Amino acid sequence: MRIGHGYDVHRLAAGRRLVLGGVEIPYELGLLGHSDADVLTHALMDALLGAAGLWDIGHAFPDTDPAYEGISSLLLLERVMEMLRGKGYKVSNADVTVLAQRPKLAPYIPEMREKLAEILRVDTGRINVKATTEEGLGFTGAGEGIAAHAVALLEET
Ligand code: MG
Repeated sequence: MRIGHGYDVHRLAAGRRLVLGGVEIPYELGLLGHSDADVLTHALMDALLGAAGLWDIGHAFPDTDPAYEGISSLLLLERVMEMLRGKGYKVSNADVTVLAQRPKLAPYIPEMREKLAEILRVDTGRINVKATTEEGLGFTGAGEGIAAHAVALLEET
């Protein structure tokens, strides 16, 4: 078995969509970034790549490449899974924590888990997503951005 950790941050800005775990969430601000800026999925991808010893998403999908402009991070996650399968790994489980003061994410978490589990080819019960505020502290607390941590466990196939 191999374990990996991922962490990512994106700034909240007007005129952008808020996409987390592949689910579009109604909110007056969205995340700024080259792709759809799905910070949750980015942290998960970095955990998966890290577990496989495949560096990180910045190297797999450079943000200087116009091919990735506005791309759905779920498509990138599919490519990460292809890379893992190529190395002989499958996902055992993953756990993601999103740090966001607003909006309330709990109603969207079941759909995020379903979408992520389908791409990771595991039962929904093996992909956990949770959200917390940081009690108004720091940049997430001020609503300036959203951060996400992820851990993932891989098994050899
Ligand atoms: Mg990112």
